[in-house]
Amino acid sequence: MMRQYELLERVSAYKPDVDENLLNKAYVYAMQKHGSQTRANGDPYFSHPLEVAAILTDLRLDEATIAVALLHDTIEDTDATRKEIDELFGEDIGALVEGLTKLKRIDMVSKEARQGENLRRLLLAVADDVRVLLVKLADRLHNMRTLNFVPVEKRARIAQETMDIYAPLAGRMGIQDIRDELEHLSFMHLNPTAFKTVTEHLEELHEKNVDLISSIEQDLSTKLQDHKIAASVTSREKRAYSVFRKMERRALSFEQLSDIFGFRIIVDTTEDCYRALGIVHTSWSTVPGRFKDYISTPKGNGYQSIHTTVVGPSNERVELQIRTAEMNAVAEHGIAAHALYKDVTNGDASSGADRVDWDSGVYGWLRSTIALLAEGDNPDEFLEHTKLELFLDQVFCFTPKGRLIALPRGATPIDFAYAVHTELGDSCVGCKINGRIMPVVTELHNGDEVDVIRAKGQVPPTAWESIAVTGKARAAIRRATKKAVQEQYSGLGTTILERAFERAGKTYSVDVLQSGLKRLARKSVEEVLAAVGRGELISSDVVKAVYPDYQDERVTQKSKSFASDGWFGMKGAAGIIFKVPGRKKSKPKSTAASIPIRGHSKDQSVRFAPDGGAVPGDRIVGIMTPGEGITIYPIQSPALQAFEDRNDQWLDVRWDIDENNHERFPARLVVTAINEPGTLAKIADLVARNDGNIHSLEMVTTAADFTKMQIDVEVWDLKHLNRLIREIRGLKIVSRVERVNG
Ligand code: MN
Repeated sequence: MMRQYELLERVSAYKPDVDENLLNKAYVYAMQKHGSQTRANGDPYFSHPLEVAAILTDLRLDEATIAVALLHDTIEDTDATRKEIDELFGEDIGALVEGLTKLKRIDMVSKEARQGENLRRLLLAVADDVRVLLVKLADRLHNMRTLNFVPVEKRARIAQETMDIYAPLAGRMGIQDIRDELEHLSFMHLNPTAFKTVTEHLEELHEKNVDLISSIEQDLSTKLQDHKIAASVTSREKRAYSVFRKMERRALSFEQLSDIFGFRIIVDTTEDCYRALGIVHTSWSTVPGRFKDYISTPKGNGYQSIHTTVVGPSNERVELQIRTAEMNAVAEHGIAAHALYKDVTNGDASSGADRVDWDSGVYGWLRSTIALLAEGDNPDEFLEHTKLELFLDQVFCFTPKGRLIALPRGATPIDFAYAVHTELGDSCVGCKINGRIMPVVTELHNGDEVDVIRAKGQVPPTAWESIAVTGKARAAIRRATKKAVQEQYSGLGTTILERAFERAGKTYSVDVLQSGLKRLARKSVEEVLAAVGRGELISSDVVKAVYPDYQDERVTQKSKSFASDGWFGMKGAAGIIFKVPGRKKSKPKSTAASIPIRGHSKDQSVRFAPDGGAVPGDRIVGIMTPGEGITIYPIQSPALQAFEDRNDQWLDVRWDIDENNHERFPARLVVTAINEPGTLAKIADLVARNDGNIHSLEMVTTAADFTKMQIDVEVWDLKHLNRLIREIRGLKIVSRVERVNG
């Protein structure tokens, strides 16, 4: 096991001003925390974080990252806490260690190989700092190196996951060394037979050609020397996995691949690269179509090199890579190497003006790496952020069984349920997020585990259609509610028609209605009932269609009809205000102390938007107005549109309700119901029986068969309000209930 001073020496070799105290503290803390824990092979557990740290010193990372490597398993596997780490090492390091703790979840859920791409995205989304990814890669590399000690049944899964996710990620970050080793180790465990065959073949081939290889090497060196180019020429060992992949991909036999020899020529300057290329091309004939200039056009991950293939002295094919030492460092250690290479070689590694001039220093390359990872996005924009917000438009959540569900940002448990299964969405009545019961309108965050609570015979509330953000959920809600709504409308139509016929003194039956279909230009009785229920068809017109001689008294006395119906047992017309006797107007809530909201400082005055109707459980937002303080709106309030462009006025606020809350909150409903005596009484009675207070009521419009009223109720919270809405909606006389916000 590496000693404390050895680790320090390694870091100070490339970073002379290393913060020794930080490294020493992290070393001792992690060692003490892991204590007597051991790994599968019997080694002290601490040897693992130490090896991970050592891998990262090869990448020449800063001491903060090395410290995080030492601490990376402490929160998950010991009694260490985020708080303690924050206190000892600062919040930055605490956040990085926590990021790694979160990533552990990924290892638990990746059984489904098909989710590779999602997992890769989750990895990037959860890891909000590229250093988390680097530590994670090193962690995985060490785990792969010691995979032999893991129970055999677990190895294939871990190796597959490494091949699917971590090796490509290392490649994407330009860390070829780690990528190669991860692929090598995964291949060994995933396909031991092929691994053994290819490796043995390669060894044989090497033995056989050892003289040929050194003669080519010699030949190349001499030619370059003759032209005064300082160069080191090395033969490249073929890697078993890349040979195997070529065989698979191009359906080639090993023999067909065996006549290729690889060499790397490393020179000082970009200019020398092209001069060396010229010499190679004039000395040997080239294989057509194999020349690639990645110096003038670097690969997406920053890789630069010239590739060419020539026919060598004994007619064998010789693959050449020509690059500068700096380019080589970048190819092996990723873009990280670039800035650090400059530091170590005292800055003079000028490789030409065509290279992006990264900010020097550690954070410079971190940012560059982020930009590269964000390939396709606008890099300028990205450089302004040090966070890895690669998938701003997506969130990744888990089912209780660990299945990963990718959703658009802003998605709710409703979307989640429909994403899992339509049936799950239709029967959803509530949810638990990370084990806690939460409203189904809660916005989901990366890594949330969502447990959908179901009930049988449930119809999703129509309001969900506007809450859901995914097309799948919306379409499914519409389908499910359409059927239920259709049934409700025809039931309502039946009620309206029965009464209309009764008023007219005529007989009502389905057969009777049948006779009027033609005159009504409707195809079926069902259609007539639904049309009446929806208010598209007036009941008296139906009566007239069936009994053409019938004269509607109500139409002739239209002006008096409403009052004479005795709606409330009092005279009135559309537009009246109905006050419930004995109730005071709800008290104005204007001081910070009396308003149960968190997220503002105590000296700011807080009030609810007058027509906002926010109730606990609503997602809320505060709008700051200079001189007026903070106004709270529910997130669905249309009034918020006015503030859309004024980001600086928006304030994140949360409810701060304790269990003993005895305060009610106002909400506004618009109810459309059958226009007949007793309707209001039924609704008022229902509200009262459900512990709701009607604060005021206003008739909005009345039509022949329907009346629309605006009811201001006072409720305890969103759950209570939703129950009220459900109950009112369940009344036979009611066609529609909507919650509205001013
Ligand atoms: Mn680990």
